[in-house]
Amino acid sequence: MDREKVIEAVGELLKALGEDVGRDGLKETPRRVADAFAELLSGEGKSAEEHLSKTFASDCGDMVLEKDISFSSTCEHHLMPFFGTFAIAYIPDGKVVGLSKLARTVEVFSKRLQIQERLTFQIAQEIMLRLAPKGVMVVCEAEHTCMTCRGVKKAGSKTLTYSVLGDFPEKKREEVFALLK
Ligand code: ZN
Repeated sequence: MDREKVIEAVGELLKALGEDVGRDGLKETPRRVADAFAELLSGEGKSAEEHLSKTFASDCGDMVLEKDISFSSTCEHHLMPFFGTFAIAYIPDGKVVGLSKLARTVEVFSKRLQIQERLTFQIAQEIMLRLAPKGVMVVCEAEHTCMTCRGVKKAGSKTLTYSVLGDFPEKKREEVFALLK
């Protein structure tokens, strides 16, 4: 990200919106917005390799489920936040990963310009690639401010997406949804 260019562009945006960029409340806004974007997009170009490479041997063949992993991301269609929770379930094939590492993986992919469908899929894909479980299922429930603050303005409406990769039997999927209720 070119911070100076973003600062300049936000100033131009405010002007185009008809605002007086010299007034007190707005003077520092371009800089603040640039710094906010630097943080919101800090996952750009990163991978979760460092988080998912430290694994532990485990002969637990059953499912591991971590839920209520909160996240916030930025919708690439409106540059507005969407936020909610992830649940990640996987069936290990000899190795497991520290639980905080799944949350770190969510962080890497959510701190980018995203759509919820792709975000969900990328997390499933990364876990499949780095951890090589028998199967993985990622469920995301999110509220989109571009939907709740504008457009149809349905406050509190949630969007659910999920992605399943590898061998994750139907019976296990039902188990995950039951555990999420
Ligand atoms: Zn949007």
